[in-house]
Amino acid sequence: MHECILELCFSCADCDDSIGASVHCSGKGMKDWPRSYAAAHIRCPHCGSANKIVFNIGSGQVVDVSPAEDLIPRATVPSRN
Ligand SMILES: [Zn+2]
Repeated sequence: MHECILELCFSCADCDDSIGASVHCSGKGMKDWPRSYAAAHIRCPHCGSANKIVFNIGSGQVVDVSPAEDLIPRATVPSRN
């Protein structure tokens, strides 16, 4: 089991304020992920809007931010099984 925590920084899709978030990645497929992207839902601490972010698992760089549906309790990383 490999685990890592990525520190993500991006701008809110709604209020455009900066957000810093930690995303916990884990899973047996992690070794195959360095060139992969994953999506996470993170709620903006400033305006409360949910953002869907896409980030590079290898570098932790956020490549896309878009408004997400509400009612998302915490960041999630999809399984690649
Ligand atoms: Zn916001």
